[in-house]
Amino acid sequence: MGSDTVERLRAAVRDVPDFPKKGIVFKDITPVLSHSGLFRASIDLFVERCRGRQIDKIVGIDARGFVFGSAVAYELGVGFVPIRKRGKLPYKTEIAKYSLEYGEAEMEMHTDAVRAGERVVLVDDLLATGGTSAAAALLIRKAGADLVEAQFLIELEFLEGRKRLEPTPVTSFLKY
Ligand code: AMP
Repeated sequence: MGSDTVERLRAAVRDVPDFPKKGIVFKDITPVLSHSGLFRASIDLFVERCRGRQIDKIVGIDARGFVFGSAVAYELGVGFVPIRKRGKLPYKTEIAKYSLEYGEAEMEMHTDAVRAGERVVLVDDLLATGGTSAAAALLIRKAGADLVEAQFLIELEFLEGRKRLEPTPVTSFLKY
């Protein structure tokens, strides 16, 4: 993938100041999704990173991780697993708590979604503090799967989220 494509993706991500609250600059990826060429280009970044690595499943995080993760899984010809905010999954689940700026939240995954020894890649749109993806990583490891890598379209490097994900290797394509 050329650096010009990465730059076009970067230019398409829209900064929305003070959303969802004052002081947060929200990275809005909907202009990437709605553009045919750029949506495909964003999926190709993940796919190229996964090819040849014997990946068994893509795990996506609620909700924008579903958009990217499911397209990546489709292209690789592997299964897709959703990790959701608590209360949305119908079957038996494992739960992981994580801290937000104010208070706590919980993510859950079906107990039979990934199996011991499976090689799994975690996908989300954006890595900020890493709290959300660290909880997801915990669920994947608890199930006995091999978490090969966590991949993000965007990384807010100044928040040092990848430290929170250690020892999981992290790849991001657009760094801020
Ligand atoms: P964190 O747990 O802090 O790494 O936050 C990651 C999750 O929150 C991801 O699922 C992102 O979609 C969302 N998120 C956090 N900060 C931002 C931001 N500045 N812009 C867009 N999404 C964000």
